[in-house]
Amino acid sequence: MNDAHPGADPGFDPGLDPVRAPWQEPMRAALEEAGLAPATGDVPVGAVVLAPDGTVIGRGRNEREATGDPTGHAEVLALREAARAVGEWRLSGCTLVVTLEPCTMCAGAIVLSRLDRVVYGAVDEKAGAAGSLWDVVRDRRLNHRPEVVSGVLADECSALLTRFFRDR
Ligand SMILES: [Zn+2]
Repeated sequence: MNDAHPGADPGFDPGLDPVRAPWQEPMRAALEEAGLAPATGDVPVGAVVLAPDGTVIGRGRNEREATGDPTGHAEVLALREAARAVGEWRLSGCTLVVTLEPCTMCAGAIVLSRLDRVVYGAVDEKAGAAGSLWDVVRDRRLNHRPEVVSGVLADECSALLTRFFRDR
C-alpha cells in the first residue's frame, strides 16, 4: 500500500513534521529553562517567548517554590519578561513556547497578552487548558484566540517531569 500521508508511515520522523519541526529549536531553549527548576525544588516546566523574527525576548521557569509565589509559572514569568522587552503589554506577533500544556491561569494570561501562537510539548491531561481538560485559548466566546501547536518534543518534555517526580 502506498500512502502519501507521512503520519501513516511507521518510519515517520517527527523531526520532519512540517508543523512541529520549526519549533524544535525554541523548545530546546524552553527545555533548558525547565532543567534549571529542580535546583530549587520546582517542577521542571520552562518557557520562552519569541519575537515575530524568532528572537527570544522572554524566558521563564516554574519558580513557585523558589519565590513562594502561587502564580510563579514559567509562562507568566516569560510573558512578563517579554512585555518588559517590548515595552508594552501587547505581545501581538509573538509566540510562547512552553514544555507543558498551560494551566487555566497561564491560558488566561496568554489570551490577555494577545500572543499570536502557543507551542507546547507535553500534554497535561489533569490540568491542561489548551486542549486537554479545557480549551481556554481557543474558546470562541473570547475575543482573542491564538494558534496552538502541541506535541513539540513531547517525549523529552514529559520525560523531564517523570524523572523529577520519580526522584523526589
Ligand atoms: Zn500555569
